[in-house]
Amino acid sequence: MPLLRDLSLAIAVEDIACGRHTARARPLSPAVRTRLAELIETVTAQRWLQPAIAYRIRTITDRGGDWIELDGAIKLQAPLLAHRMRPASHLATVVCTVGESLSRQVSAWFGSGNPARAVLLDELGSIALTKLADRCGELLRDEALALGLDLSGSLHPGDDGFAIEQQAAVLQLAGGDELGIALQGGSTLAPLKSLTAVYGLGKKMPNWSAGDNCATCRARERCSYRRDGRTAGIAA
Ligand code: SF4
Repeated sequence: MPLLRDLSLAIAVEDIACGRHTARARPLSPAVRTRLAELIETVTAQRWLQPAIAYRIRTITDRGGDWIELDGAIKLQAPLLAHRMRPASHLATVVCTVGESLSRQVSAWFGSGNPARAVLLDELGSIALTKLADRCGELLRDEALALGLDLSGSLHPGDDGFAIEQQAAVLQLAGGDELGIALQGGSTLAPLKSLTAVYGLGKKMPNWSAGDNCATCRARERCSYRRDGRTAGIAA
């Protein structure tokens, strides 16, 4: 089970200002740019980002109308997977996290009456997670290429037709316990800035982008991290 820790993940002021990793560009005043640059320096110096990825690729051995079977033994129940992964011969389950230090600091700043800094840091954490998710897609594309296969876009527990209750199964299949990622309250991941995803690998496997996923997401109107266009990646 591949585990990648201590990954470098550079965050820039422009990531927020230009909405490069979300569909929401934010015009930033010079003062906010300066504060943000200082905050990024602090995040780097304090190592509040500890990006890590775990994933596992398994063979799809059987499938039905609303389930797929992996390695002859593991059954994932999800109509969305059965439908979108029909051309896939393999399924990758992945989990990634930016660690818990950043979220701990967000709570500390909220608790000490510094909500503006806390909100900005929380946004940085979400953008870092989105960038890390893009990295997962790049890694798996390389894995697919090595197998002579094509990679799909990502699907996530909580998508329509992929019940959030499947989060536990995907987390376990991806190796989340190896990274110290756990479920709390049934479907929420801890550390908070973590996510799970599933990708299909197959001959002529159709691909789709994070923006394509957002286009059909029921939360898109109220989501700050909605993505547009053909940008590969994932949603937080
Ligand atoms: S919640 Fe929906 S709209 Fe927001 S980033 Fe995720 S898929 Fe896109």
